[in-house]
Amino acid sequence: MTQTFVRPAFLDQLDQDMMIGGKRVPAASGKRFETRNPATGTLLAMVADGEQEDVDRAVAAARAAFVGPWRTMKPAERQRIILRLADIVEAKYYELAMLDTLDIGAPLSRSMLGGARAAALLRYYAGQITTIHGETLPNSAMGDVLSHTLKEPIGVVAAINPWNGPAGMSVWKAGPVLATGCTLVMKPAEQSPLSALRFAEMCIEAGVPEGVINVLTGQGAAGAALASHPGVDKIAFTGSTGVGEKILHAAAATMKRVTVELGGKSPNIVFADADLDKAVPAAATAVFANAGQICSAGTRLFVQSSIREEFMERLAAYTKTIRVGDPLDPETQIGPVVSSRQMEIILGYMEKGKSEGATALVGGERMTGGAYDAGFFLEPTIFDDVTDDMTIAREEIFGPVLSAFSFDTIEEVLARANATEFGLASGVWTRDLATAHKMARGIRAGSVWVNCYQMLDPGVPFGGYGMSGFGRESGMHHIDDYLETKAVWIKLD
Ligand code: NAP
Ligand code: MG
Repeated sequence: MTQTFVRPAFLDQLDQDMMIGGKRVPAASGKRFETRNPATGTLLAMVADGEQEDVDRAVAAARAAFVGPWRTMKPAERQRIILRLADIVEAKYYELAMLDTLDIGAPLSRSMLGGARAAALLRYYAGQITTIHGETLPNSAMGDVLSHTLKEPIGVVAAINPWNGPAGMSVWKAGPVLATGCTLVMKPAEQSPLSALRFAEMCIEAGVPEGVINVLTGQGAAGAALASHPGVDKIAFTGSTGVGEKILHAAAATMKRVTVELGGKSPNIVFADADLDKAVPAAATAVFANAGQICSAGTRLFVQSSIREEFMERLAAYTKTIRVGDPLDPETQIGPVVSSRQMEIILGYMEKGKSEGATALVGGERMTGGAYDAGFFLEPTIFDDVTDDMTIAREEIFGPVLSAFSFDTIEEVLARANATEFGLASGVWTRDLATAHKMARGIRAGSVWVNCYQMLDPGVPFGGYGMSGFGRESGMHHIDDYLETKAVWIKLD
């Protein structure tokens, strides 16, 4: 990472409006909310605070664009537009990465990694456009009857996003919408609205028709108004399990299609035969990357008893070398957490861990002194001697906090790893083929990473079991969630 800091020109404008119908517009009420840099407390922008009237306008713009030329545009033409968008996003990703780094505190080295993935996602969905097709189906009806299916875009999609990886999430939500001919109203999280707005501008630049991608900035109430709006046909929600439940209720009255990508408490399991030179740093990165604010973070570490002592010693030593600090410094590995509220929640969990009897092997406190005082910096924390019933063993903390356990057998660790309401992801470290396969079959989670962690690819589905939600993003079948299937019967005699 040799990139030096260049403040995006986007931030020259303190007042940031929404994007509705291809235009940047203020909230109907004129209200705004602040978004700040969590590393320094600096005000970045005053963002339009959307309410019901703005939701109505955004949904109307998306509907108008849907019934306009977009859905009937030839697939090859839509494909050209998305490929153009991929080129623009790739060439200008630095701006999106910088906006995210300033808005949520993710180290620039990490934000920049999203560029290749964002472009690859868009190109993957562009490639799928010309593969969408119905089928001609045999039937046993009386007489001579032809039956076939048509695949049609669902309509207006509402995407409601979390704050932990804003630019990548915007692209991930837009991809299947653009591929299928749907239109979008996207609500970014209030802590991180900036990169979604800049991405929407890039869509216009690429030739995506006005109104196809709308960005409704606002707070939770705007999300709630969007989730229950009768003009929305589908909701693609990524966020906490608690809000996910509210989304399902809101969607029920008008029978919206819903997919929910929610929280996790993912196990990372190290067997005695693992390559420890790889497993030790990976166990740290699995939980501490992005200051622990990743849905699939490996927050429950299970280490086989015979290597437990050595492993924890090495993990503690490695964790102490992690550089926490200024997200703009190329050497920084971990930045602040996103807000003072998030910091208080995490500190509360650290206290809870201590009071329930766990030992903080490393960390366990807020970082203070010098530049740390201006932001929300927490020590990467490892709790040892955690028992399965402790609060820190069960609840999603969404911060740099690892709970460590030991185990003896495959059967035991499978049962304990699965003893959670969540089921988003998991890691397994072993050199034994049979152990790897048994674990891959036995773990109840949407992703199992063997001898790696947090691998993602546009062609491979990602999503949850249980309270981690339902639906899969990425992969060949992701676009099915944005399509209706219509059966057509034609009597020929
Ligand atoms: P959150 O509190 O659930 O918020 C997510 C989004 O929902 C935000 O845009 C939020 O708006 C909005 N919202 C809040 N209340 C709402 C309501 N009643 N109706 C509709 N929308 C509402 O989640 P977060 O704290 O931003 O993100 C962290 C969570 O996301 C973690 O649980 C994490 O595991 C999960 N996550 C999951 C995945 C995955 O793929 N499974 C990926 C990333 C994150 P405001 O910002 O204005 O409150
Ligand atoms: Mg912010």
